[in-house]
Amino acid sequence: MVKADQVVKNFGSLEVLKGIDLEVGAGEVLCLVGPSGSGKSTFLRCINHLEKVDAGRLYVDGALVGYRQKGDKLYEISPKEAARQRREIGMVFQHFNLFPHRTALENIIEAPMLVKGESRATATERARRLLETVGLAAKADAYPAQLSGGQQQRVAIARALAMEPKLMLFDEPTSALDPELVGEVLAVMRDLAEAGMTMVVVTHEMGFAREVADTVAFMDNGVVVESGKPADVLGAPTQQRTKDFLSKIL
Ligand code: ATP
Ligand code: MG
Repeated sequence: MVKADQVVKNFGSLEVLKGIDLEVGAGEVLCLVGPSGSGKSTFLRCINHLEKVDAGRLYVDGALVGYRQKGDKLYEISPKEAARQRREIGMVFQHFNLFPHRTALENIIEAPMLVKGESRATATERARRLLETVGLAAKADAYPAQLSGGQQQRVAIARALAMEPKLMLFDEPTSALDPELVGEVLAVMRDLAEAGMTMVVVTHEMGFAREVADTVAFMDNGVVVESGKPADVLGAPTQQRTKDFLSKIL
């Protein structure tokens, strides 16, 4: 579903991704871990068209992200085509970014109505189903300010799912939450993984990574230092940099 082949991203003279190779099969969960500044968010942003890859190839569901290849040459795709690709990818950030003046339900139906031209009735029906899935059926008419951080993040997940994405990206979805609210968000993510969603998750929650990930990749300084099964990467890392990182956070 996601394939990165020597992906490079620079910001001016700063090389942020220095040739990333990663693969996520359909229905699999990849957890990305690593120190601050290692390029985790940048990698997610490249997948989601928020940044352009400078070299290498990045594919989602077999299609090059942001480019079309003819012979050896790459051509940028039109903004319209990029928007179409992007629609199939859901993203959840550390800060929930819900519209403050709309209820939970209204937040969820907005994009399907606006972007997909769905009727209010259809979008509302799905939104109610999704709110139930994330355990918030009773909060449909609540405004974000009336919800806890964990509840807001679960609404944000439901909102991303309302577009029926084939891939979900999570960038530290629990790091802004009070500790007692982390579990309820991770539980929703675990259910989603069990339901077969393909997911790339940047997280410091090693328990989640160990139990839910098919693959854990440790990034440092723009490279994937080590990747593999969670039990191997987290339990018996072979690289010194991975060992140092894990000893600091565990
Ligand atoms: P954290 O754990 O702190 O979120 P990260 O692994 O997600 O870190 P990135 O946000 O991907 O790291 O940043 C990688 C590097 O790229 C950092 O040195 C950062 O300062 C730099 N960077 C990110 N975005 C930009 C930008 N728009 N312009 C210039 N530099 C950037
Ligand atoms: Mg980040």
